[in-house]
Parts: sequence; C-alpha cells; structure tokens
Amino acid sequence: MYRTHTCGELRKDHAGAAVTLAGWVQTVRKFGSITFVDLRDRYGITQLLFGEELNKELAENPPGREFVLQVKGTVTERTNKNPNIPTGDIEINVTSFKTLNKSVTPPFTIQDDTDGGDDLRMKYRYLDLRRNAVKKNLELRYAVNRAARNYLHEQQFMDIETPFLIKSTPEGARDFVVPSRMNQGQFYALPQSPQTFKQLLMVSGYDRYYQVVKCFRDEDLRADRQPEFTQIDCEMSFVEQEDILNMFEGMIKYIFKAVKNIDYTEKVERMTWEQAMWQYGNDKPDIRFGMKLLNLKSAFILSNGDAAPTGQLINGAGFGVFDNAETVLAIAVPGCSEYTRKQTDELTEWVKRPQIGMQGLVFVKYNTDGTLKSSVDKFYNEEKLKAIAAAAGAKPGDLILILAGREERTRKAISELRLEMGRRLGLRKENEFKLLWVLDFPLFEYAEEDNRWVARHHPFTSPKPSDISVMIDNNPLIENAEKYLEHPYSNIKANAYDMVLNGNEIGGGSIRIYQRELQEKMFAALGMSPEEALHKFGFLLGAFEYGAPPHGGIAFGFDRLCAILGGSESIRDFIAFPKNNSGRDVMLDAPSTIDDKQLEELSIALKGTTHA
Ligand code: ASP
Repeated sequence: MYRTHTCGELRKDHAGAAVTLAGWVQTVRKFGSITFVDLRDRYGITQLLFGEELNKELAENPPGREFVLQVKGTVTERTNKNPNIPTGDIEINVTSFKTLNKSVTPPFTIQDDTDGGDDLRMKYRYLDLRRNAVKKNLELRYAVNRAARNYLHEQQFMDIETPFLIKSTPEGARDFVVPSRMNQGQFYALPQSPQTFKQLLMVSGYDRYYQVVKCFRDEDLRADRQPEFTQIDCEMSFVEQEDILNMFEGMIKYIFKAVKNIDYTEKVERMTWEQAMWQYGNDKPDIRFGMKLLNLKSAFILSNGDAAPTGQLINGAGFGVFDNAETVLAIAVPGCSEYTRKQTDELTEWVKRPQIGMQGLVFVKYNTDGTLKSSVDKFYNEEKLKAIAAAAGAKPGDLILILAGREERTRKAISELRLEMGRRLGLRKENEFKLLWVLDFPLFEYAEEDNRWVARHHPFTSPKPSDISVMIDNNPLIENAEKYLEHPYSNIKANAYDMVLNGNEIGGGSIRIYQRELQEKMFAALGMSPEEALHKFGFLLGAFEYGAPPHGGIAFGFDRLCAILGGSESIRDFIAFPKNNSGRDVMLDAPSTIDDKQLEELSIALKGTTHA
C-alpha cells in the first residue's frame, strides 16, 4: 500500500498513529540536525520531521523540490502549531522514507504566488495544475458540472452523446474541418454545437436531453474565447418559452446553492432586447447597477409602451456636435459632480482610446447645491441643463456624461463607459450575482457585405407565433440596401432568449421551427437555394416530416459560468488544458505540421506554408 492517509487528512486526534504518506516535496528546511519537509498532494500539505537518526540516509538521498516521497512515521502533536493549514496541529515523525521519483528543478515555484509568467505556466501546464489556485478552479468546475447534472437528472433529462465528426452545424463561426482518409477529398466538420442532433433526438422522442459537451468554433480569439469550449447543452419537447425559462432559472439557482451556498430566491428579471439596447446600450447588460442610458437626441417609445423620457432637449442650440450627430446619449454617474479637471480630462482620454473610438466627451456637473455647470454652457443655459439632468434621472451630486456620434458606435461607447464607471465606483461587486433574461431578439440581422439576412441566433430558431405570417407572406429579397430597416423582416422577433449574469451572456437558446415548410422558408430567407438547403440539411427537413414535436432548448457556456462563479475574468483559468490567445496549445505545440506520408494518405497537397 502506497499510503494510509492523504496529506490533507491528519489531525490532533490521530496522534500516536503509525501512518504512511506519499506526495510531492513542497519545501525542505534544515535546522541543525533535524530536517522539516512539507509534503503536498491534492488534499493538502503535511509537515514531516526527519530526526538526527535519518541524517545519513537524507545525505545519501537528499529530497529536492517536487520529488515524490513515500514516508512512514508516527503522527505527533506539534508544539509550534500552524493555524493557517488544516493539518497544522500535527507533524509526522518520520521513521523511514523512500524516494519514489526524482524531479528536476521546476521552471517556476509551485505555490500560490508563483514566479512563473503566463507562457511558462502554459508550457508546463501539468506543473501549474499542481498549484492550489488552479486546483481550486478545477474543483469549482467539477462542482458546477455535478450540480448541473444532479439538477437535470432530477428533472428527468437524459445525457445522450452526439458525434464529433459531422457535417456543419451553423452557429455563426467557421467550422474546424477534418479530412477523411477513407473518403478522400471529403471532410467532416467538428460541431459548433450539437444543435441539429438534439433536435433530432426530440423527433425520436427523448423529450428531455442534455449533455456537457465540447463545441468547436474557428473564430477570432479576441475577448477570452477558446476554439474548443464546453456547453451545458439542453433540449426539451412540448414546451413554450415560459417552460424553458422556468426550468433553467431553476438550474442556475440550483448551481448557485450547491456551489456558492447562495439562495437566489428572487425571480430572475426579464427585459426585451429592445429595452436592453435602449437602456444599457448592449444586449447583455450588467444590472447590478443603474446608470441607464438617456437618448438626448430624439424622443422614443419602447415597444412595451414605456414612454421615452426625453423630447427635443438639445437640438437647435447651435452646438454642432450635438446638432449634427445621429445620436446623443447620456448617463448620470452618481456622486461624481466634484470630479476635478484632471479627472474629467482623463475620462475624455479614455473615450478617445481606439477601442472606444469617440472624438470627445461632454460633462454636466449637477452640483450638490443644485446648480449646474457644463463644458457646453455656451449653448445650453441652466434651464436647459436642468431639463437634461431631470431627464437623465440625475440627482444633485451627479456627473452627467454625454457622447455624440454615429448611432451604433456611440451606443457601444456609452455602454462601455457605463461599465467602466460602474467598475470605478465599485458597483460591479464580485460577490453579487444578478441574473437577467433578455427576450424577443430580432430573428434576422442584416449582412451588409452580401446584402442579405443572416440568422441572429441560428437558422433553427422560430419566429414569434405572431410573426410567422410576416415571414411567410413577404419576399426576403432586400431591394434597397439603404432601407433594409424598412423591410418587414427587420421587425420579425425571434422566440429566443439569453440568460445574462453580471453583464455576461451565460446561456442562449430558442423555441425551434419544427415544420418542414417553415424551416424551408427560413433557409430561403437566409439566401439558400432549395438544392443547397437539401444538400446541407436534408436530414433535418426529412425528419420534420415524421412527426416532429414542438420543441426548444438552450445551451450554457460552461467555462464562462465557472469563471464568473470563481470571480475571474478569464475562462482559461477554469480549463485544465487551455489554448493561448492564438489558439495554440503551447505545451503540445499544436497545431503542427503533419508528415508527407499522412498528407499522401489523405490525398492532400499543401499550397504553401508559413509554418516551418
Ligand atoms: N446551439 C445554440 C448555441 O450553441 C444553443 C441553443 O439554441 O440551444 O448557441
């Protein structure tokens, strides 16, 4: 037997017991004739004491960092206890030891505050994984995985595996393709998601399916993405949107409780996509704080009937920047009216950064004494400023920030600025979790390059029942590209939903199309000829003719969910063997070239390569 206990297990109660431990050497400290070794395994660290009688053996086999040792000895209560570790009350009085394996000096120290940089730690990921910080993340990942499975199992979901070597499933990214030796000149695609399979499983009658599954998307890796990532992928039959929202709200709350011991009892907030865009400037708002956007340029009414708060407050005052802008958007930042010149200058620089791309920033200070002061006093008298402040919901003490420019860019910029101010003011608290459903997305997006419609979610998403006829009765052709917004298709809403957690999209799904005719119409709307639709998705269209039930589903970004629950920005920290920002595995040095023989077998000739 290699060990009787783990290195995290022994306590005062074990004093006197004869034990055998095995693990890695964390540190070696010599004090005169005695030597202390901290022995580490997955469960913790235990202090070993080597007395004088072992000096000769130690001299012959000196243990070094990361050596694998097996020791036999007696548990003794320490005189000098260490309250910082669970085993700190005891140590092992070693009677004999054996070096099971040696280690060369590791390239970085394996402890919480390591001296290893990112690249080095990725190259030696198997050593990095020995560190506590990384281990905790993987433990959390496993806890989330287990909780999700438990919940779904209790709800009668069945885990069914789907294949990886398939034909394209469009989710908006490029496919990774795999050549086939047995079918030369032909290629599989790796699934961007199991979307079509889970729908086929519904046709087969497995009315509650789930899988914790790898998905592969060849996309640009900015913004903390991985070319292969994991989803909690789910599908249900005989459901409407409301059923899905309730079921998966339940799952996330269950995970919160199981993993973080959080009772998320309140109802998850809901908001339409339109509301999210108008009030927060993006479709995954962080609602841990307010600071909602105000459109100063024109009045608007939301489709849910909320009246827009402003009229023509600013037009025609002679201030060209506002008068000529497509849009003027403002936020009221609480308690910042006393910002100094230096601080406002810095904010101006912040919005001018290329990532934000604005020309400038306008301020209105709503002083605590009720007076107003702005960088555009010349054009707007106090009366007007007051009206702006009131419309923006500002209170004395607030600083109103205003951006003007092209609609899309300005909306994006003010949304970023809002998040930045939220962060600076400590309003985005790490241990506060706020869930949100964003609903009623547009079904289509306009793709300027090809002058056609693309599916905003994916081509299997159904329109809202009331919009089905709009889709059927109208020709998808966009005759006037400039006026695509006037095309009836731009107003069609999808039966789709996203779950947002603290400003991150953690899940998304939809109620699906389940009738062949509507699915064909959808493919046609996306510019596919009937032949192309048959070639790519004939199997699905065929299946819809054999009694496909109404169905819908959702998929959660498992890596991202873990990262947020673990209080980290980076999903890489929660993946055992992640790829770097260029999609490379630096440990394996993959992707890599393959030899000529393999290429020959696959009947593939390379056109030329940039990689030696
Ligand atoms: N397959 C979708 C995705 O990966 C999720 C879904 O519609 O269920 O985003």
